[in-house]
Amino acid sequence: MKIIALDIGGTAVKSGLVDNGVLKEHRETPTPAAEGGQAVVALAKKLIAAYLPEGADGIGISTAGVVDSKSGSILFAEDCIRGYTGIQVKALLEDAFSLPTAVENDLNAAAVGEAAFGAGKGCKSLLCVGFGTSVGGAAVLDGRLYTGSHFGAGEFGHMVTHAGGLPCGCGQRGCFERYASASALVRQAQRLDPSLDSGRAIFRRLREPRVKAVVDSWLREIVYGLASLIHLWDPDCLALCGGVMQQSYPVEQLKALVPKSVMPAYRSVSIQAAQLGNQAGLLGAAELARRLAAGQLR
Ligand SMILES: [Zn+2]
Repeated sequence: MKIIALDIGGTAVKSGLVDNGVLKEHRETPTPAAEGGQAVVALAKKLIAAYLPEGADGIGISTAGVVDSKSGSILFAEDCIRGYTGIQVKALLEDAFSLPTAVENDLNAAAVGEAAFGAGKGCKSLLCVGFGTSVGGAAVLDGRLYTGSHFGAGEFGHMVTHAGGLPCGCGQRGCFERYASASALVRQAQRLDPSLDSGRAIFRRLREPRVKAVVDSWLREIVYGLASLIHLWDPDCLALCGGVMQQSYPVEQLKALVPKSVMPAYRSVSIQAAQLGNQAGLLGAAELARRLAAGQLR
């Protein structure tokens, strides 16, 4: 089955044709974010139309923003794309192309991609936990994406791991992401040396004991959160996403430390880095569209 897949982000729209789970082509086009949501949909139509001559059975859209995946509309998008909130992406594209169209939030789509083709291949249930400026995630349970009652499931970063701790943008204090995000690691490292301004810079100097101490303390924070998530969801796979988890040290440490921090019944959980990189959203969106076209997506 051939699916046209798009991954709409605040800075770029990735597009490609996915044939039986394999991305055949991959382009990147700047997002006309300042021109607003309608301009983004117009670009999406143009990109999709270019693939139509190759034959397509469906369209899969991974996008920034909170997505009502039943209606395929954008419930809420921050300022990254002006006027994107409320856009009926699925309806607009189905009207234009008469092809079954699946629309999903980008992190959720990436989790579906990892579950089907990447770190969670062969697993029953997968949690994806992403570490960047914040901590986000998604849950694929018994093979199906769990989006919650309001399409908001997976805000793992807002678990409170430090009661009364650091203030968070969500209004709470002591949220997991204030301690465990890549930004939290950089913030701590810069107290030692302002030039430690990225994960890459930090891991390059891991041999320095004081740098390693900061990294190990950050990893302990991650262990608290992951142990809680494993006890809550009992997944058989857990994928660590985000650029900082492309480093082997944090992944190897978490593989060793997390099982020691959960009860015996949960210790067989497979922990690994996400495998699909920036193709995860495209492949996941295509997989959702494939299921929709095959009548397997309720
Ligand atoms: Zn929070």
